[in-house]
Amino acid sequence: MNPHTEPLVQPIYHSTTFVLDDASYADLRENDGLGVSWYSRVRNPTTDAAASAIAALEGAEAALVAASGMAAITTLVLTLCRAGDRIVVARELYGDSYELFARYLPRLRITVDFVSVAELEEWNEVIARGPVRLAYAETLSNPQLTLLDIPAVAALAHAAGAVFAVDNTFASPRLVQPLALGADVVIDSATKFLNGHSDVIAGAIAGAEALVTECRRTIMTFGSCLDPHAAYMLVRSLKTFAVRVDRQMQTAAAVAHQLEASPEVERVIYPGLSSYPHREVAERLLPAERGGAMISFVVAGGDERARRLMRHLTLATEATSLGGVETLISAPFNSSHYLMSPGERAAIGIEAGMLRLSVGLEEADALIADFETALRATAVSEVFAH
Ligand code: PLP
Repeated sequence: MNPHTEPLVQPIYHSTTFVLDDASYADLRENDGLGVSWYSRVRNPTTDAAASAIAALEGAEAALVAASGMAAITTLVLTLCRAGDRIVVARELYGDSYELFARYLPRLRITVDFVSVAELEEWNEVIARGPVRLAYAETLSNPQLTLLDIPAVAALAHAAGAVFAVDNTFASPRLVQPLALGADVVIDSATKFLNGHSDVIAGAIAGAEALVTECRRTIMTFGSCLDPHAAYMLVRSLKTFAVRVDRQMQTAAAVAHQLEASPEVERVIYPGLSSYPHREVAERLLPAERGGAMISFVVAGGDERARRLMRHLTLATEATSLGGVETLISAPFNSSHYLMSPGERAAIGIEAGMLRLSVGLEEADALIADFETALRATAVSEVFAH
């Protein structure tokens, strides 16, 4: 390439199609056209650049990007599973993933058995019931923030000959690299920490080259490719991924400690706190001093208090989604889990008054002050009321 026109920054290839040469025809013959750029639904240099960056972050041999996190999940599942197969899935799942497993896959005659993510005995018992094609769970569940014991479930899945897939969206590869801990394939909603600016919807699948190639074939047929412009934004965001997320985690730890000290807060779930219910798994799997950038906490006064508290915050914004530079807060009872009854929510650890916080890049002191003010303004206890 001419050194005076070689760009420093990844160009956006807005072209839908690419000039065919003998190498393109050879790839079509030998690889079904999955190896080179000839049509952007299959490969595009800008989406390939985003995929390579994510493969490096997840420590994967290969990766691909898709139109959304859900596109990545459906692509993976439909690539691996067919009628008659059985999947074992953690029941603590992102709502739309739950829809896929609980409602859509059974229509395709795929059997889905659910287990509690932290119950290894249950994983063992349900996996042992018969052949399993796929075991699937999230690194940190939403909103309970239960940390998946990846090596333990990997061992059970592999003993049964299953592929073990992990959705790493809530943790991000800065906190956990599931492939290094025994998972076979990782899903990321790149919409969250990877892109980090709440302006792109994207997903990724990372793992062994052969599996990623099979998933690329599925995307070629189903059409859930990522747009090159979105891929460019993702590439740009990934350059700051490590510094953003390190800072978000540092701030989250400070906020979690402050919330835990408040008499208005009944319980804080954060993997970096010594009170974290899955402390032993966290000590084995997480780097020292890191607990992620997501916090769940329960305020005194139930869901009504949770709703009022969100309206009193001025720095943190009441919105769904996570992983962006702006701090976002939401209440599972009226957002991610509103379809469930209070009893159903309680059964999966969503207590009345629970809030989910995604910590952004604001100053820790300012965020802490925002929460203290809002907790005071909505106080229900004697301590703050007087
Ligand atoms: N997985 C998890 C854990 C999520 O939280 C989400 C979205 O919130 C998804 C997958 C789906 O990602 P997307 O919104 O990019 O389709």
